[in-house]
Amino acid sequence: MTCCDEMARAQTEEAIVQKEKYELADGRILNDVETEFFIRSANERGRVSYFGLNYCPFCGRPLSRGLWFAEKKK
Ligand SMILES: [Zn+2]
Repeated sequence: MTCCDEMARAQTEEAIVQKEKYELADGRILNDVETEFFIRSANERGRVSYFGLNYCPFCGRPLSRGLWFAEKKK
């Protein structure tokens, strides 16, 4: 289940992964967003980094749980 075709393609290419934080054992999470969507990047030494996403970078829809919870409280 994805918000748009570009997100689906990014997930196919593993540029963006949908996982729980505790499942990301092969790299470091470099920001603090309550989400299960992460941009995955690897440098030339093979070190993997993840950046949590609040919004889809393609269509702009909210992705993160943090935003969903904030929305519910309104
Ligand atoms: Zn999208």
